[in-house]
This record gives sequence, C-alpha cells and structure tokens, in this order.
Amino acid sequence: MIVRCEKAGVDMRLSAEATPEDIRSLHPDAVILATGSTPLLLPIPGLPECGYATAQELLAGKRAAGRRVLVAGGGMIGCEAAEYLAERGHEVSVVEMKPAAAEDVAPEIRRYMFETFRRHDVRLHTGCRITRFYEDGVECKGTDGSILSLRGYDTVVLAMGTRSSDPLSEAVSPFVPQVFVVGEARKSPGNAVAATADALDAALEI
Ligand SMILES: Cc1cc2nc3c(=O)[nH]c(=O)nc-3n(C[C@H](O)[C@H](O)[C@H](O)COP(=O)(O)OP(=O)(O)OC[C@H]3O[C@@H](n4cnc5c(N)ncnc54)[C@H](O)[C@@H]3O)c2cc1C
Repeated sequence: MIVRCEKAGVDMRLSAEATPEDIRSLHPDAVILATGSTPLLLPIPGLPECGYATAQELLAGKRAAGRRVLVAGGGMIGCEAAEYLAERGHEVSVVEMKPAAAEDVAPEIRRYMFETFRRHDVRLHTGCRITRFYEDGVECKGTDGSILSLRGYDTVVLAMGTRSSDPLSEAVSPFVPQVFVVGEARKSPGNAVAATADALDAALEI
C-alpha cells in the first residue's frame, strides 16, 4: 500500500501530528479523518492508580511487561497481547467478563491462539467481571457472585475495549467543504476490513 501510494504521488508526511491549523494551511477541498481509537478506561476503582500498561502500548514496544502478567480483558486485543507475552516466556493470566475469551477472533486464528495458550499454560478466567484494580492484580466477581482475588502480578495489561478518537472533525468542518470520519474514528471497536471499506466509500464520494 505504501509503494502504491508513493507511485500515485501521495504526499506522505510521517511523524507529523495533524492539527486543525495544519489542515487549514493546506486549503483542502476534502479531508478524510482516520484517527483511529484509544483504549477504553472504564470507571473501575483503582484503575487510574494501578500503573497499568495498555495492550496497544505493549504490542507497539512502548512499554515492557514483568515476568508475571495479568491481562484485563480477553477479547481480540487482550488475547493477542497474552499470546505475544506467553510466547516470550511471561507467565500470563487473562480475565474476561464474557463466558468465552477471544470471541471476536476469526475461528481459524482462534484455534491456533488457544493451542498457544495451552502450550504456554496461559490461565483464562472467563465469566469474571473486574470490580477493582490493584498495582499487582485485580479483584473480580464470578457469574455465581463469588469473589476471586488475582494478585501477585508484576504488570497489569489493560485491554477492556476501545473508543473512537476523533479530535479533528468539529474543528475543521467550518473551513473544509467535505469532511469524512472513517474507520475506528467513526465506530470502535471495528476491524481492518470495515475501516478500509469506509475509506473507499469516502474516496468515492469526493
Ligand atoms: C492488537 C490488535 C489486533 C488486531 N487484529 C485485527 C485483525 O486480526 N483483523 C482485523 O480486521 N482487525 C484487527 N484489529 C483492528 C484493526 O487494527 C483496526 O480496526 C484498524 O486498524 C482501524 O483502522 P483505522 O485506520 O480506523 O485506525 P488505526 O489503524 O488505529 O489508525 C489510526 C492512525 O491515525 C494516527 N493518528 C491519530 N491521530 C492523528 C493525528 N492527529 N495526526 C496524524 N495521525 C494521527 C495514528 O497514529 C494511527 O496510525 C486489531 C487491533 C489491535 C489493536
């Protein structure tokens, strides 16, 4: 895709955060905003102070994890983080509120993911709703009302969903004739296929 953009003469500016002023200075006829999403921070006691790393920070290499890791949230992102860590020798537990983990992962990928979990002894605590965060773990409530304390971890990794991040559309709408918000900036959680389809629809409307 990068090569095709370059061949088509797309002006790519990397390591550059687009601000409303930058966009104004380019005098565009249309803007497609594809600014993605940010991790969801639910109002659960202890979360702000517990020193968590987000799964995205971890997978991007911006944060490191200790030996024993608790992953809070067992959807696609949490399970991918768990798989990544387990394969690198970390001892990993995952806590998920739903009855099953990785429900949003395609079956053909999920199968191999669970094989990795078995091989590396990743512990899955499903049907557990986190009610409190600590620096070294969480407390959660089972579907039968039982309380489970999972403590003694070196790192808590947060993967409890995402929310759309669209900091630009309101600011640029007054001076750009056509503004499109696409991908996870429009609807999160999403996926790469939906984001790409959104982008194509926007491009065809310009
Ligand atoms: C761990 C993980 C695994 C995933 N696995 C899959 C999978 O297997 N299959 C699948 O379909 N989807 C998967 N997804 C979801 C998929 O990655 C997203 O749905 C998709 O990338 C959304 O595309 P987007 O363009 O909307 O946002 P993003 O891909 O998040 O891109 C947004 C970009 O905008 C940049 N940006 C933000 N603000 C500014 C600004 N002001 N100026 C300039 N740049 C800015 C960001 O740096 C970022 O690069 C996964 C997501 C994660 C986190």
